[in-house]
Parts: sequence; C-alpha cells; structure tokens
Amino acid sequence: MQNNFYREVINDHNLRPVHKHELTDANLEMRGMNPSCGDDITLRLRVNDGIIEDGAYTGDGCAISQASADIMLELVIGRTVSEAEELKDIFLRMIKGKITDEEFDKLEEAGALTDVSHMPARVKCAVLGWHTLESMLAEE
Ligand code: ZN
Repeated sequence: MQNNFYREVINDHNLRPVHKHELTDANLEMRGMNPSCGDDITLRLRVNDGIIEDGAYTGDGCAISQASADIMLELVIGRTVSEAEELKDIFLRMIKGKITDEEFDKLEEAGALTDVSHMPARVKCAVLGWHTLESMLAEE
C-alpha cells in the first residue's frame, strides 16, 4: 500500500516535473553526473541573503534521479541555505537507513525515496541532486 503510494509520487514527479526548466536569473549553477546510470543534471538556484528564492533543473536520467531532483527543489525553495543543508543531511542519512520518525516527516515527499535505501544500485541516482546541491551551497 505504502510502496504503491511512494511509487506514484516518484512517477508523478518524473512525468510531470514542477521544477524542470531553465532559470535565467539563477546565481548558482552546477552540473551533477552519475555515469553508472547515465544521469546528468544541471541544478540552478537563485540565492539572496541566505534564502533560496528559486530553483530549477534541466537534464536527463532515470525516473529516480529526475524525481529526486524535482522533489528536492520543491522542498528547499523558500528556505534558508542552512535549512536546506539540514534537509540534505537528513535525506542522505535516510538513504543510509538511519533517521528518526520526526526527521522523516521533515522530508515531506522526499520520504517517498526511502525504499532506495534497500536498492544499492539506485542510491547514486537518488542522491545525485542532493549531492549537487551540497556542493553548490558549500561554495556559497
Ligand atoms: Zn539513475
């Protein structure tokens, strides 16, 4: 039951992404690649005064990589850089299988990727967007 719901969330973000487009006024841009699957995304953010005002991605890849990037942007747009970094840490720990229920709730739709923790071959797909975000914000 829950697995079906999670699959639907992922399919929906893959087929009808909300944040997959260009972002002409972005001030941060970074490409992330996962050669083992062929996932290749470019993440763009507009960050002002420590707040992620807007974000988008372009690129190609498997459903998990694309849905994960879309869900991540949905979660971090409108948040501060430090909030986004905290969510990124929680997400990466979820993929390793170690978070509390309270932390799981903070991830909102990103929780739909929890099953990837049992699919080692898909881990790099799921974390691609988040690792790219991590690198971008570290340079801020
Ligand atoms: Zn992939």
